[in-house]
Amino acid sequence: MPWKIPGDTGFSYLGIAACGCVRAVTIDASDDPNGKKELAKDLARFVKSGYRLERVAHQEARDRYGFDCDEHKAKQAGLPLTA
Ligand SMILES: [Zn+2]
Repeated sequence: MPWKIPGDTGFSYLGIAACGCVRAVTIDASDDPNGKKELAKDLARFVKSGYRLERVAHQEARDRYGFDCDEHKAKQAGLPLTA
């Protein structure tokens, strides 16, 4: 699903990698039955990927989403990585 934020109120969940990068984000739509199901699926996927979960306001999610460490910046840019 594309990264879309419905408005300025409400909450999102961040999936944070061990390095501290926010690698994943999903909207907390748990007040809607379908949204609740989707959210549970997303969160399960984040946990499976080894991400730590954090529930934050949409604005904070917007500010923090990104790739901050050198490893993920390199991946983002499509550069070869050295181990
Ligand atoms: Zn990283």
